[in-house]
Amino acid sequence: MDFQPVLEEIVASLRPQLGLEGQVASYIPALARVSPLQLGIALRTCDGQEAHAGDSLTPFSIQSLSKLFSLTLGMREMGEAIWERIGREPSGNPFNSLVQLESEQGIPRNPFINAGALAVTDRLVTLFDAKAQMLALLSSLCGETVHFDEEVAASEASTGFRNAALANFMKSFGRIDNDVSEVLDAYFHHCSVSMNCLQLARAAGFLCRDGAHPFAGEPLLSERQTRRINSLMLTCGTYDAAGEFAFRIGLPCKSGVGGGIVAVVPDKLTMCVWSPALEASGNSLLGMKALEMFTARTGLSIF
Ligand code: GLN
Repeated sequence: MDFQPVLEEIVASLRPQLGLEGQVASYIPALARVSPLQLGIALRTCDGQEAHAGDSLTPFSIQSLSKLFSLTLGMREMGEAIWERIGREPSGNPFNSLVQLESEQGIPRNPFINAGALAVTDRLVTLFDAKAQMLALLSSLCGETVHFDEEVAASEASTGFRNAALANFMKSFGRIDNDVSEVLDAYFHHCSVSMNCLQLARAAGFLCRDGAHPFAGEPLLSERQTRRINSLMLTCGTYDAAGEFAFRIGLPCKSGVGGGIVAVVPDKLTMCVWSPALEASGNSLLGMKALEMFTARTGLSIF
């Protein structure tokens, strides 16, 4: 299938809606300055065909898309042991909620909410230089050198009161081994990585290839581990909108408050859409619409 005209048509038909609905994330000051009038889409098939349209080469803040890659690092390094302090259930709560952590003894519901990603990051900080390893993984996966946006990382650190609360709370239950400040610093840097849609469509490629590196082909994760990441994306990747995503789009997706959404069609392709204005759960509004149009036009879905 030639995907290029499909992506161009999606961008052309959604462009008139830019700026009409949704809000850019404002609780991180550096993100509040991003223009909402942007929309990009890119995909890469398992056999290396690429297509992209709109603002697909404009870098943006990956934010919670990094949770996909910190979990990948954690699973690769720790295998099953990664699940000792993190659950696998949808939270049904906002991504930065504190409420479940108290009744569930500091064990986050899943690795894709902030508490879960902080717990994963803590394990990574114990193992190695978590910041350097994240950049190395992402750069290798997309075939280009990627960087932190230090301004975004500093901006988030200065306003990250909820994340500090989550990490301290888990520490009080004995679930965080390292200094909270070190874990937060690594987490904020992971969220601050700047990438574009095409780079992210490439970087996620191992998720549609049973764990094989998108370019090198060597196994990054096992087939079983990869399937598990895809299931978690479907059930937990878009927070309390996961049901709506499954209903409307029917693909494993992971979103970030920078406006990016990564989606996987297992054994076929990975894609990334980006548009900064968000709906109430923190998912890109036009990104959701673009994915919905894509699955409707192509008939691709896991169901
Ligand atoms: N850096 C953001 C935070 O910790 C990530 C949240 C998100 O993208 N959903 O709040």
